[in-house]
Amino acid sequence: MPPDPTPRKRVLSGMRSTGKLHLGNYVGALQNWVRMQDQYQCFFFIADWHALTTDYADTSQVKANSLEVFLDFLAGGLDPERCTMFIQSHVPQHAELYLLFSMITPLGWLERVPTYKEQRENITEKDLGMHGFLGYPVLQAADILIYKADFVPVGEDQVPHVELTREIARRFNQFYQYKGRPVFPEPQALLTPAAKLPGTDGRKMSKSYGNTILLTDPEPVVRQKLKTMVTDPARVRRSDPGDPDKCPVGDLHKIFSSAATLEKVYQGCRSAGIGCIECKGWAADALVQIVAPMQERRRKYEENPRLAWDILEAGAAKAGKEADATMSEVRQAMGMSLDRP
Ligand code: SF4
Repeated sequence: MPPDPTPRKRVLSGMRSTGKLHLGNYVGALQNWVRMQDQYQCFFFIADWHALTTDYADTSQVKANSLEVFLDFLAGGLDPERCTMFIQSHVPQHAELYLLFSMITPLGWLERVPTYKEQRENITEKDLGMHGFLGYPVLQAADILIYKADFVPVGEDQVPHVELTREIARRFNQFYQYKGRPVFPEPQALLTPAAKLPGTDGRKMSKSYGNTILLTDPEPVVRQKLKTMVTDPARVRRSDPGDPDKCPVGDLHKIFSSAATLEKVYQGCRSAGIGCIECKGWAADALVQIVAPMQERRRKYEENPRLAWDILEAGAAKAGKEADATMSEVRQAMGMSLDRP
């Protein structure tokens, strides 16, 4: 086949292997990835090593969690014919590049990463004083640069990580060159529109808050979770008017409901013409419409996980070839090629 005259730009992104995905993961990342599949040459991976940076003591569920994430990738609409998907630890070249980057990354760069400081302060139930936890932005840099990605789709909070990746690329290129030219391009952050997706308690939807609606939740569970969801506190009685802009259920409508339903919600809530139970029922309808086809797509792989592992194996082989090509340049640039002198 002749080479593509206008090769598509390359995108790399990953998700930690935390088990089944929830609607927040879908809206915050997966949905965007699905849209990017045809526009870019995409590599999406399940970051099982990254999961170890905070959950290192018990690794018994890592593999099962990775599979669950992957099944949700497929359920959400990622297509192995249109993107490359793999598990991070199945492409161990990432680890070699991480090691080499760790030699040239100043500690001060890592200590000032905002998420590092934040998590050290907020996660007190685990000892995060680990080398791997401090170094995980370096591993991220390796994940990105080993594919020479042009773009990294991220939320606002991850932008400093992409900036750090650019700094590491720059530093590497200053020290070492491959055949007189830099090895690494500097990737750009591709900001994903941050839709505010509240969990059932009104806080940001997050597994650690236990307030999630999973992509795999069956319809009765979705409806039950919606029933318990907090609403605008101004609506104490059915006759009290409320404001969808101050209600987490209103936020769900804004993301998932049709314009006509949203109109009914605003009108009915502000005039106390509808009750919250009715309104939540409409939100549940919209959510079920989103997750039901996903669950249908997922079923095939749940019943036959071998199909999923086959895709992951092929993905790792394809990613591994790209990673090998980069590592060969890196080793030569550093005077550490596998060839005899
Ligand atoms: S009617 Fe709907 S938007 Fe208004 S407070 Fe109740 S649940 Fe929220």
